[in-house]
Amino acid sequence: MFYILDKEHNPIKTDDIFLVNEWMEDFGKRFVKKTTVASDVEVSTVFLCTDYNFSGEGKPIVFETMIFGGERDLETFRYSTWDEALNGHDKIVEEFKQRCPYCTALRIKDNICCTQCGSLF
Ligand SMILES: [Zn+2]
Repeated sequence: MFYILDKEHNPIKTDDIFLVNEWMEDFGKRFVKKTTVASDVEVSTVFLCTDYNFSGEGKPIVFETMIFGGERDLETFRYSTWDEALNGHDKIVEEFKQRCPYCTALRIKDNICCTQCGSLF
């Protein structure tokens, strides 16, 4: 069983693999949001096309935020809806504005590099 998104970003369940393949060809459709939070640290949120809720209860989990690079590399967050995914994404980006992405030390406002590890933001 797979999922695609309708025009309002609602997940639609389907077992039509041809439809899913066709839909996935345009990778841009799967992107919710991508934010570069430091020179080589990125927060990326995508639609997964498959359900990661393996409990058999509750809503399908079809969105994922992943951090690439830095101290929190490959940390993952998953959601059921586009809006949850967008909020989750923004919350993580906000955390990176508070703390250094490389060593998690508190950031000093407007500093271009970390006072703790010296990494450039
Ligand atoms: Zn640092």
